[in-house]
Amino acid sequence: MEVFSQEFSVSTRKQMEIIDVTRGVENAVASSGIKEGLCIIHTPHATAAIIVNEGEEGLIYDITKKIEALFPVAEEYRHNRVDDNAHAHLASAFLGSSKVFPIKNSRILRGTWQNILLVELDGPRTRRVVVTVVGER
Ligand code: ZN
Repeated sequence: MEVFSQEFSVSTRKQMEIIDVTRGVENAVASSGIKEGLCIIHTPHATAAIIVNEGEEGLIYDITKKIEALFPVAEEYRHNRVDDNAHAHLASAFLGSSKVFPIKNSRILRGTWQNILLVELDGPRTRRVVVTVVGER
């Protein structure tokens, strides 16, 4: 069994933003040379997340609005006594910081409308995306 890891970074421009990282993940999987296995996509941050869905502009807007509605900035949070980003931590905790895909025939097994999306929740910042591929070459 082989383990391959590669990371890239993404610079976000807004406080909240969804960025399609599918191509970067697919490039890492191609570099791994692994034909059958698993791919773990992870962002090592407490105020960002990785989600999987369609990258259509209108849907990205809808997802952004829904996250804002579920985790409003203007609410009383205890974490805001030490920091001012509790809403971002909460959204990250519920959305999750990693996702796993199967690798089949050297490719990520994903649906046509399953893009890999980085969710910035407390930007703008530079965010790391770590791709770990485990399997057989
Ligand atoms: Zn914080």
